[in-house]
Amino acid sequence: MPKLTNKIALVTGGSRGIGAAIAKRLASEGATVAITYTKGAEAAAAVVGAIEAAGGKSLAIQADAADADAVTQAVEKTVATYGGLDILVNNAGTAIPKPFQEATIEELDRVIDINIRGTFIATLAALKHLRNGGRIISIGSCVGERNMTPGLAAYAATKGAVKMFTQGLAREVGDRAITVNNVQPGPIDTELNPAAGDWAAPQIANTALKRYGHVEEIAAMVAFVAGPEAAYITGANLTVDGGTNA
Ligand code: NDP
Repeated sequence: MPKLTNKIALVTGGSRGIGAAIAKRLASEGATVAITYTKGAEAAAAVVGAIEAAGGKSLAIQADAADADAVTQAVEKTVATYGGLDILVNNAGTAIPKPFQEATIEELDRVIDINIRGTFIATLAALKHLRNGGRIISIGSCVGERNMTPGLAAYAATKGAVKMFTQGLAREVGDRAITVNNVQPGPIDTELNPAAGDWAAPQIANTALKRYGHVEEIAAMVAFVAGPEAAYITGANLTVDGGTNA
């Protein structure tokens, strides 16, 4: 039997990039998977279609991670539709790369609201429903621990916050056998961080493996952490970065 059979998951920002790969991978392991998105209704529908075509169950919900009510309702809708929640993946995130001295207050608020506040709110809503043995998995970043890239100071700070939130929360929910972990990608080829973009060359140079990672390489770690073999891993920052932080 697939290891996530009968598990219900919600992946924020699941319409493309890392989130879409996570949604498809969890579904391939037997989970029922809801995803959120903001603008990409067609892309979200395509992820749902791919999961259904493979025999799984999936649902796309429009919910901006910066909108507390929308995020809370997305959790509630997932629970109401499928009858529970076992796995929350806080994947929705954004970066606005530029020298910090040139950032606007609005840009700083946006990065904080999506990357930190959105993660807090989705987690708060999910904890009301997560069954014993549940999983909270956030997608932080290798720059949350060590940042060598000028232009990412504020973004890295938000991912550092995700790291400490993970460690602190793990100690509060362990009595429910809920694990809380932070998967920290290095450079992964997505629309947010294209391997062919201007920012790519220095990021590749910083890796030990001299390449960008693939979305499936992050999804594989998330699927492991979501599964029964990872029941004793909590409060951990699991870096999948091609050796960037080595
Ligand atoms: P992409 O921009 O490629 O995809 C982001 C996904 O999230 C899309 O499905 C997008 O759909 C959705 N999304 C964007 N903004 C919001 C929002 N406000 N609310 C809800 N959903 C939203 O990003 P990646 O896949 O590259 O990144 C995913 C996560 O991984 C982020 O947290 C990012 O910080 C992290 N990460 C990425 C790395 C990389 O190199 N790519 C490296 C380290 C960490 P829509 O447009 O419809 O909203």
